[in-house]
Amino acid sequence: MEPEDVGTELAEVLIDEQRLAQRVAQLAAAISEDYEGRPPLLVVVLKGAVMFLADLARAIPQSVEMDFMAVSSYGYGTASSGVVRILKDLDVDVRDRHVLLVEDIIDSGLTLSWLLRNLAARSPASLEVCALLRKRDALQVDVDIKYVGFDIPNAFVVGYGLDYAEQYRNLRCIGTLAPDRLPS
Ligand code: 5GP
Repeated sequence: MEPEDVGTELAEVLIDEQRLAQRVAQLAAAISEDYEGRPPLLVVVLKGAVMFLADLARAIPQSVEMDFMAVSSYGYGTASSGVVRILKDLDVDVRDRHVLLVEDIIDSGLTLSWLLRNLAARSPASLEVCALLRKRDALQVDVDIKYVGFDIPNAFVVGYGLDYAEQYRNLRCIGTLAPDRLPS
């Protein structure tokens, strides 16, 4: 889906398809260099990171494994609750594995810090984070993110996997929603 297909529902295109592709290729190059000789296990948080994962994994010139987790932190609103619940856990044991957690967006960082504690307790050989987007102003906790795609303003964004009430995930770009699309 193109931005034109959603018309006035989008306030602004923040990152277009081309910039996304360029940055994903750079991240993949950095990851493949850092993980040479120790293939990473990409741990992906559903559903927002799926488009990012699909492009990132295919741009990495070495075989990677993937596994998926689903957690809930937002429901249908737009503000972080800080309460994280595992809806689907990993299928594989991450003990002694080089885990790279692939995230869509870091807002308060509450979800991420909870996930990192949870995964660290499973004794991986290494544990790093690759996040497509980071809202720098919104960070409430100090989390170490090795790979960041873009630092973005503190606004609610959709597209490229990110939803609002399950809509807009298949938008090719990342954009901000028009104010009248969001609850007051
Ligand atoms: P945090 O715990 O860092 O505040 O929130 C992380 C999660 O909240 C993300 O994985 C994502 O699911 C959701 N989230 C945070 N900010 C946004 C946003 O601007 N747009 C969308 N669609 N989801 C967001």
